[in-house]
Amino acid sequence: RAKSAGGNRYEMADAEADARAITRHGLTTALPAALDRSEFFIEYQPLVHLGDGTVRGAEALVRWLHPQHGVLGPDRFIPLAEHTGLIVPLGRWVLEQSVRQAREWQERHKDKVGTGPLRVNVNLSPCQLTHPGLVQDTVDILERAGLEPDALCLEVTESALIGADDEVLKPLRRLAEMGVDIALDDFGTGYSNLANLRRLPVSVLKLDRSFTQGMQQFPADPVDLKIVEGIVSLAHGLDLTVTVEGVETGAQAEQLRLLGCDTAQGWYYARPGPPDRLHELALVDATG
Ligand code: C2E
Ligand code: MG
Ligand code: MG
Ligand code: MG
Repeated sequence: RAKSAGGNRYEMADAEADARAITRHGLTTALPAALDRSEFFIEYQPLVHLGDGTVRGAEALVRWLHPQHGVLGPDRFIPLAEHTGLIVPLGRWVLEQSVRQAREWQERHKDKVGTGPLRVNVNLSPCQLTHPGLVQDTVDILERAGLEPDALCLEVTESALIGADDEVLKPLRRLAEMGVDIALDDFGTGYSNLANLRRLPVSVLKLDRSFTQGMQQFPADPVDLKIVEGIVSLAHGLDLTVTVEGVETGAQAEQLRLLGCDTAQGWYYARPGPPDRLHELALVDATG
C-alpha cells in the first residue's frame, strides 16, 4: 500500500516536472509577443530614510500580466528573458518607464522641501551590463525624460560583479562618473572579497534580506548584530550608503537604524505597488 502510494507520488512529481517544463517553454516562446502587447507592468516599492522615516524614492520591480497564468513575478520570467536575450529590450523598457515615472513624481512633489527630489532604483541584469548600448541608452532615456542622472540608481547583483573584468566595469564607471548611483544588490550572498569593493564603481550597498531576517527578535542575535555592524562600518569607511532589504517589522527597522544603516525597504513600510501609491506615501511625509 505504502509502495503504491509512493508510486503515485512519484508519477505525480513527474507530471508536475513535465508541467513546469511545458510552462517554462510556453513562457519563453510567449515572451517577445508579451513585450509587443504591453503585458509587462512595473510596481514600485518605497525606499525609506531610516533617520527620519521619509520616503526618498522607490525600486522598480517588473511583473508580467500573463493572459492565462495571471500576474507572474520576475523570478518566473527574468531568467528566461536572460536566456533568450529578450532581457535587453525588456530591461530598456523598464528603465525608460521608471525614469519617466521618477520625473513625474518629481513634478508632483517639487514643492516638498528638505528631502530632495524623489529617486528611482532600477535592476540591471548581467546581460545588460555587457550589452554595448547600455551607456548611450541610459543617457538618451534620462535626457528624453529630463531626469537628472543623480536621481537614478542602477542595481547590479554582487554575483554579477564578482570577478568582473575592467571591460565589464567600464560602462558602469562611465555611468557613475555621470552621477548615476550604482548599487551592489543582494550584498552578502555572493562571498565576494570585501577588499574587492574598492575596485567597483558602486556607491550603495544593498544588504540582502537574509541579514534583516536575523534581526527579527529584539534584541537580535549578537553575532548577527556584529556582522551587520562590521559591514556598515566598512561601507561607511568606503563612502558607501547602506540600504537594507526585507524589513518586515518595526523591531528590525529600529535595530538596523541603531546599527547605522541609511535606507530601508520592506513590507513594514509598503509592499511593491502602483506608481500613484508612492505619491500618497511621499505626501504623508511632507505634511505630517
Ligand atoms: P531584488 O532586486 O532583491 O528585489 C527585492 C525583492 O524583495 C522583490 O521581489 C520584493 O518584492 C521583495 N521584497 C521587498 N520587501 C520585502 C519584505 O519585506 N519581505 C520579503 N520577504 N520580500 C520583500 P520581486 O519583486 O519578486 O523581485 C525579485 C527579483 O527580481 C529582484 O530582487 C530583482 O533581482 C529581480 N527583478 C525585478 N525587476 C527586475 C527588472 O526590471 N530587471 C531585472 N533584471 N531584474 C528584476
Ligand atoms: Mg534590486
Ligand atoms: Mg535586492
Ligand atoms: Mg534580494
